[in-house]
Amino acid sequence: SEHLLEVKNLKVSFHTYAGEVQAVRGVSFKVNPGECMAIVGESGSGKTVTSKAVLGLIATPPGEIKKESEILFEGKDILKFTEKEWRAFRGKEAAMIFQDPMTSLNPTMKVGKQIMESIILHNKVSKSEAREQAIELLRKVNIPNPEDRLNQYPYEFSGGMRQRVVIAIALACNPKLMIADEPTTALDVTIQAQIMKLLKEIQQKNNTAVVLITHDLGVVAGMAEYITVMYAGCIVEQGTVEEIFASPCHPYTHALLKAVPNMENENKSELQIIPGTPPDLVMPPKGCGFASRCKYCMGICKEKAPDFTQVSESHKAACWLHHPMAKKVLGVEEIKE
Ligand code: SF4
Repeated sequence: SEHLLEVKNLKVSFHTYAGEVQAVRGVSFKVNPGECMAIVGESGSGKTVTSKAVLGLIATPPGEIKKESEILFEGKDILKFTEKEWRAFRGKEAAMIFQDPMTSLNPTMKVGKQIMESIILHNKVSKSEAREQAIELLRKVNIPNPEDRLNQYPYEFSGGMRQRVVIAIALACNPKLMIADEPTTALDVTIQAQIMKLLKEIQQKNNTAVVLITHDLGVVAGMAEYITVMYAGCIVEQGTVEEIFASPCHPYTHALLKAVPNMENENKSELQIIPGTPPDLVMPPKGCGFASRCKYCMGICKEKAPDFTQVSESHKAACWLHHPMAKKVLGVEEIKE
């Protein structure tokens, strides 16, 4: 297939003393080479678990990836990988950028050495070649004076510069896929924009596919081509950026969009938050997962989980309001926000 990554019916549970937490309940999406897919949702929506599954980072047990799940990378089912194959895959084919750069940097090792180690781990190069490449990488992520910076420790870098170092390390093996989990959440707004711009440049220049995990639809607009919105372990809506921003269908997506700062609601404290809490995933509701917080909730929503309704070829939403029979059978009015 021409897809770089294809996640099919991914189901991930965690076995805890309280029972089996069904963290991801049947998630499917595709990413083509050079494309960016944003996975958006609150904490606990399953977005991070999904991204960890793609990198083989779910510890089993307590985690369990259900056997009907498939994750294809260049057509190969990577869920069948051995630990050795996973290690080769991470870094070489796919790299991860976390929210807190300090989790991926060693505070006691000079930055240059860390970048060189990751170059040497995956390529047959001499130490001096690795050093040259490390300087080149720091240049690529716009770190000034790279020769001097190589000899500094992570604490000598600002938060934004540290995240650039992490991105340089991720780039060391020229991965086909980068997974960025809340890469800018710990940074202030101006630095956030610079890091997103850098990720976009890398995506375009190297034709790297990016899966961007975020709770903030605001960072997605300039970056992603496609958006997957997750709630309570399920996908509730999927579409192109234009479709999601201009014609969101799911009430949860509407609520997320209201939380994006814009001209009218610049003050974050005035942002609308969605009242209520997500459902217990030890005993997921049999109907729509969003029912307990949805102001449009109808009788059927609590009885039966809605299937996806295809809004366009690239846009679908799982909500009874958009069921083709909604107007006739349920007497649903247009949703007004
Ligand atoms: Fe709300 Fe019902 Fe749609 Fe769920 S299916 S989002 S409860 S209207």
